[in-house]
Amino acid sequence: MSEKITFLNNKLQVPDQPIIPFIEGDGVGREIWQSARAVFDHTINVLYQDKRKIVWKEVLAGEKAFEQTGQWLPEETLNAFKEYRVGIKGPLTTPVGEGIRSLNVTLRQTLDLFVCLRPVRWFKGVSSPVKRPDKVKMHIFRENTEDIYAGIEWMQGTEEAKTLLNFLQHEMGVHQIKYPNTSSFGLKPVSIEGSERLIRAAIEYALTFKLPKVTLVHKGNIMKFTEGGFKKWGYALAEREFSNNVFTQNQYDQIKKSVGKIAADQALKEAKRQKKIIVNDVIADAFLQNTLLTPEQYSVIATLNLNGDYISDQLAAMVGGIGIAPGANINYVSGYAIFEATHGTAPDLAGLNRANPSSLLLSGVMMFDYLGWTEVGKKIITAMETLFQSGQATIDLARFMPNGEELTTQEFTQALLREIR
Ligand code: NAD
Repeated sequence: MSEKITFLNNKLQVPDQPIIPFIEGDGVGREIWQSARAVFDHTINVLYQDKRKIVWKEVLAGEKAFEQTGQWLPEETLNAFKEYRVGIKGPLTTPVGEGIRSLNVTLRQTLDLFVCLRPVRWFKGVSSPVKRPDKVKMHIFRENTEDIYAGIEWMQGTEEAKTLLNFLQHEMGVHQIKYPNTSSFGLKPVSIEGSERLIRAAIEYALTFKLPKVTLVHKGNIMKFTEGGFKKWGYALAEREFSNNVFTQNQYDQIKKSVGKIAADQALKEAKRQKKIIVNDVIADAFLQNTLLTPEQYSVIATLNLNGDYISDQLAAMVGGIGIAPGANINYVSGYAIFEATHGTAPDLAGLNRANPSSLLLSGVMMFDYLGWTEVGKKIITAMETLFQSGQATIDLARFMPNGEELTTQEFTQALLREIR
């Protein structure tokens, strides 16, 4: 019997036949969704026969919704994600025009999906621009609701910009704006609660999956109260709420200052022996350099919204590009989650049977892990790696493989279905 996923005592309750809403998506969305859905259903059937299955429920958003209902993001769609709690989506066109917000941002904000989770790992067989992509194994926790993304901006020359300038200069004593009369302005809200819930989720994730380190990536040397606050509140939270399970760089520095380096090194060694999670921090620019030089020193990354945007794309490029980069938007307090392909609608490929379905497939793998059906993801990933190692891939990946054999979306899907037995 099909049923809803519920959330009790901070835990998802997943029936054997959960109803899961999906948005097919625009552009290549339909092609990659059909591929991904076929692979999901087949894998579940192979693993669980009649015992488990997904009851997919289509909900509309984007161009398809606009054509059928006159709305880009109908209320029923938002309600369905609330009612069924966990969903998946393909890419959506961002409508161009005054007063229309990005559909993705609206979904994230309406459901308060405060974590954007992007796991980054390399799959055997995939070409990469770096020498050792196998060393890249990171889990990015990007804050999803605050920072410059809150969209609080004023265009230069407007009455609002003039009012703000007047307030800054005459009431706040701000005199360092270089070209006051032609400046646009933006605000960057970063709160204690917003930072804490993101960093808490990152530490809990590290604990659940036995990952060794959580690194706070920030630009607190320049933005002292916003990004610097993120770091400060992060350390305070880690030491307050996870005192038995973490050792922070902040604690290390304090021991070093009061007792000396030898004692601090010993405390760190002891923490590692006890398998405590190390919480440290790094400035964003140094982090980006280090990811290329020594990626193996990072595991879970907790960062602010804008940093997270840049970091996700760079790391994705290091392991093969956005065609195989999955993502999820999650609220760990309510259980609401939407898993999504991280790339856009790829209008240049739409309808050509050439798009790579891997990003959506791997987002599905994340979804099944979230539901606790971890065997599904393992099977799909093993099959994908087998194909990649033999050079079988869609054109975006195959063209860089020494033994590359360019498959259409449908051929790649069929090959996966044959592989998953
Ligand atoms: P895009 O990601 O659609 O395309 C960038 C490049 O990557 C293109 O060359 C494209 O062919 C390629 N690419 C993307 N997905 C691919 C796949 N599955 N297989 C093979 N190649 C793939 O980015 P864009 O062109 O900047 O944006 C197009 C539209 O998508 C815009 O309307 C944008 O607003 C929207 N968008 C949506 C999302 C989302 O829904 N999450 C994310 C980004 C962009």
